[in-house]
Amino acid sequence: MKLPEGVKMTPMLKQYGEWKDLYPDCLLMFRMGDFFELFFDDAVTASEALDITLTARDPDKAIPMAGVPHHALDAYMGRLIAAGYRVAICDQITEPDGKTLVERSVVRVVTPGTYVPQDAEGEGRLAAVYSSGDSVSIALLTSGTGKFEAGTFPRDEAVSLILAFGPEEILMPKGQEGDFIPMLSGEAGPRGKFAPVSRERGEFSPSYGADWLAKRWNISTLRAMGLEDADPAAGAAAAALRYLEETQFGGGGHVHEIRPIQPEGILILDHATQANLELVEAVGPSLYSVLNRCRTPMGRRLLKDWITHPSKSRDMIEFRQDCIEYLVSDNFPRKKLSAALSSCGDMERAVSRLAMKVGNPRDLGVVRDTLLSLPGVIEATSSSESEPLRSIFADVPDLSELRELLGMALSDELPRLLSAGGVIREGFDPELDASRDAITHAEENLKSFEASERERTGIKVKVGINRVFGYYIEVGKSFADKVPDDYIRRQTVANGERFVNERLKDIERRVYRAEHEISRREETLYKEIFSSVMASVAACQTASRAIATADVLSSLAEVAYDNSYVRPMIDDSRIFSVMGARHPVIERTHTTTPFTPNDISLDPDNANSGCIAVITGPNMAGKSTYLRTSALVAIMAHMGSFVPAEEARIGVIDRIFTRIGARDELSLGRSTFMVEMVETADILRHVTARSLVILDEVGRGTSTYDGMSIAWAVLEFLDLHVEGRTKALFATHYHELTDLSLPQLVNLSMAVDESVDGIRFLHKVVEGPADRSYGVEVARLAGVPNIVVRRSQEILDELERESLSSDRNLGAMSKKYAQKEIFFDVEREGVIEELSQCDPNQMTPMEALDMVFRLRQKSRGILGLK
Ligand code: ADP
Repeated sequence: MKLPEGVKMTPMLKQYGEWKDLYPDCLLMFRMGDFFELFFDDAVTASEALDITLTARDPDKAIPMAGVPHHALDAYMGRLIAAGYRVAICDQITEPDGKTLVERSVVRVVTPGTYVPQDAEGEGRLAAVYSSGDSVSIALLTSGTGKFEAGTFPRDEAVSLILAFGPEEILMPKGQEGDFIPMLSGEAGPRGKFAPVSRERGEFSPSYGADWLAKRWNISTLRAMGLEDADPAAGAAAAALRYLEETQFGGGGHVHEIRPIQPEGILILDHATQANLELVEAVGPSLYSVLNRCRTPMGRRLLKDWITHPSKSRDMIEFRQDCIEYLVSDNFPRKKLSAALSSCGDMERAVSRLAMKVGNPRDLGVVRDTLLSLPGVIEATSSSESEPLRSIFADVPDLSELRELLGMALSDELPRLLSAGGVIREGFDPELDASRDAITHAEENLKSFEASERERTGIKVKVGINRVFGYYIEVGKSFADKVPDDYIRRQTVANGERFVNERLKDIERRVYRAEHEISRREETLYKEIFSSVMASVAACQTASRAIATADVLSSLAEVAYDNSYVRPMIDDSRIFSVMGARHPVIERTHTTTPFTPNDISLDPDNANSGCIAVITGPNMAGKSTYLRTSALVAIMAHMGSFVPAEEARIGVIDRIFTRIGARDELSLGRSTFMVEMVETADILRHVTARSLVILDEVGRGTSTYDGMSIAWAVLEFLDLHVEGRTKALFATHYHELTDLSLPQLVNLSMAVDESVDGIRFLHKVVEGPADRSYGVEVARLAGVPNIVVRRSQEILDELERESLSSDRNLGAMSKKYAQKEIFFDVEREGVIEELSQCDPNQMTPMEALDMVFRLRQKSRGILGLK
C-alpha cells in the first residue's frame, strides 16, 4: 500500500497496509480495541455508505478514519453488503499487552452471496456460471441453508434458472464477464441485482471440480449424488463451494451434498413474471403476504420458495393437497400443529451460521429451543390420521441426545458473545461450578474483609474495585493519618486515598484466578457443545426442512380454511378451468366492495372451443384483474395450495408467461415499451402447447398503429405458430382485434351497466367483444366537466364516421371536425386540438382532470371570463 504524501509509516500502518494489499477489492475493517476502524479511501466510502463520522487518525488529517463499535459490527456490515461492497474483517488475534503491537489477521471475508445475518432477513445466495459452447453450467448455493444444486443447460434455460434463483453474487471465469454480465442483466438494464465476481478459469475445470468435491465430501464419485463425474456443472459447483470456504476461512461444513437442478420438476416463473404478479415483493400486499401464516422463519423461506418455484409434479402437488385437505377438514390437528410450530426458531440458519464460524451462543440457543419443540411438532403430525402428513418427519434422524445435551448445558438467556460469560447453565459442569463458587466466596470474603478491617482499624474503610487498579481499600481524607502500616497506597482520589494490603491482594488473586478458570472452562465446554452440533448438522438440516414443510402446509391450510379456498383437481390434461375465481390479494384488501368472481375456461384439447381469449372492455373495468387472477390461481394450484374459487380443474402447466404492464421500470433505465417488447419476445420464443400465456395490453407503450399491429401479430403468432394449441388470455383496448378471424380466438369482455346516469363497471366477464371503448364515459366518471365530455362525444362520433386508416393525421382531422363557430380562432383551435388528440383510454383520471382544468382556463380566457 502506498501511503499518501507526508504520512509517516508506523508499525500499525505497516500492518494495516499488508492486509489491505491482500484484500484490495474489500473494505478492510481493522480491529482496534472496541472498534473496527477503516482508513483512507475505505473510510470515506464507509462513512458515506453508513452515514458515520469521518475523522482522522492524525492531526494533519492525512489519514482519514471511520469506525464502528465491535459489538455492532453485524448491523453495519449488513448495510455495507446491501450496498454491494465486500468486507474483510481483520481482527486482533493476540491480547494487547501495552508494549508490543497486537497481532491481527483477516478472519473472514463477507460478500453479498455469503452473508447470513443473525437477526435480519437474507440467506446469502451465491451462483457460479461457466459457459462452454452453447451450454452453460451453473451452480446455485444458498449459504444460509446449505442447499446446493448444479446442472448444465442451454443458454436461455440457464439464464431463466439463475434469475429465478435471484443470486446476490455470481462467480464467473475471467474472460466470460462480457458474455455473462449483459446476459444476466437484461439487454438494457439490470433485471436482478447481483455482484459479479471474476475467478480464475481453472477453478471452473469440470474434472478438477469433480475430484475436489468428491474429496471434500469423502466419497468416491459424485454419481451417488446424481451428478455425472464428467458433468461440466461439477466445475461451477466446486468454484462456488471453494469460494464459500475461502471467504469463510473453512466454514462450509453445512454444505455436505449437491443435487442436480431439475427444472423439469419446476414451473419456471421468470423474474418479470414474479415481479409483475407481485408474488413476494410488492409495494402493497403480495401473494406471499396473504398466504403467510407461517410460525417459523424456515417456513416463511420455504413458502417463498414454493410461490416462486411451483411444482410441475402431479404427485408432489397432490401430496401437499392431501395434507392441506386433512388440516382444513379438522380444526383440532391444525391448531395443535401451528401451536407446536410456534416455539421453533430458525434452526436451519443457526446451524449454517455455526458451520460458517460466524455463529455465537445465541445460535446454539436457537438450535436448543427448536430441538426442544421438535417432539411436539412430530407428535402433532404423527398423531394425525393423514398418512402424507405423518410421512413428513419419517426421515428425520433421532436428535434426542443433542437435544438433551443442549437443554442441560446452556443457560436460559444467552449472550451474543461467549466472552460475556454465563453461557453454561449452573449444575452442568462441576469444575465450572467450583470456579463460580470461588467467586461467590470471594465476594463474601470481601464483605467480611471489609467488616474486619473496620473493626481492626476503627476507620470506616470501603472496599471496592477499579478497572485499572483492581481491588482497593478506600479511606476518607479525615482518616488519612490513621491508616495502619500494612496498607500500601495505590491512588489518591477526590474523597480520600486508596490502598491495598496482602490479604486483599490474596482475595484478588483468587478472584482473578477463578474468573480466568470460568472463561477458560466455558470456552472448552462451548467448543465441545459446538462440536456436537457440528456432528449433527445434516440431521438438524433434515429436521429443519421437515419443520418448514409442516409449517407451510399448516399455513396454507389455515388460509384455505379462513378464505374458503377449494382443492383444485390436477390432472394431465391441458384444461384450465376455474369457476368463480377470485383474486387472492384484492379480495382480502378491498373489503368494502365484495370481489366479483369470474369463470375462466380454456381447453386446447377441445377443437370446438377457442383457447386464446381476447378480453376487451374499458379502462378500469377489471381486465387486468381477471388476467392476474388466472395467473395467481394457476400458481397457487401448482404450489399444492388450495385456490380462491368455487371449483377448479387444471392440467399441469409447464410455464406461465406474463406480460403485465404494472411496473415502472423507467428507474432502471428502460423505457416501458422496451420492457414490454423484451418480455414479449421472451414469451414468443419459449411458449409451448402446455403453457399459460397472459398478455395485458401488449403494444400500449407505443403509438396506436404500431401498438395495434404488434398486438395483432402477437395474437396471430400464438394462434398459428405455436406447435399444438396453447392457452392464452389477451387483454386489449384495441377494439379492432376482436374482428380478427383466427380459429382459436374467443372474445370475452367486461360487462358494463349503461343507464341514463352513465356507466357502471360490473367487473363481470361475459362472452363476446365489448361494444365500444367507453373512453368518453370513463372521462365523465373521472369528473371531466360536461362541456368537454359532450364535445369529446361529438368528435368521437365524427371520427367514427370516417375511416381512421384513410386519414392518419389527427392534427388535420381535428381541424376538419372543429366546431364551426370557433373556426378561425387560433387559441380556440388550440383547445380543440388538444382535446381531439387526447386519448382517454390512455389517460389516468388525474391526467384527465389536469387536462380539464387546463382547457377550462383556456376557454374562460377565450370567452373573456375571469
Ligand atoms: P382494467 O385492467 O380493465 O383497466 P383493472 O383490472 O385494473 O381494470 O381493475 C380496475 C379496478 O376494479 C381495480 O381497482 C380493481 O380492484 C377493481 N376490480 C377489478 N376486477 C374486480 C372484480 N372482479 N371484483 C371487484 N373489483 C374488481
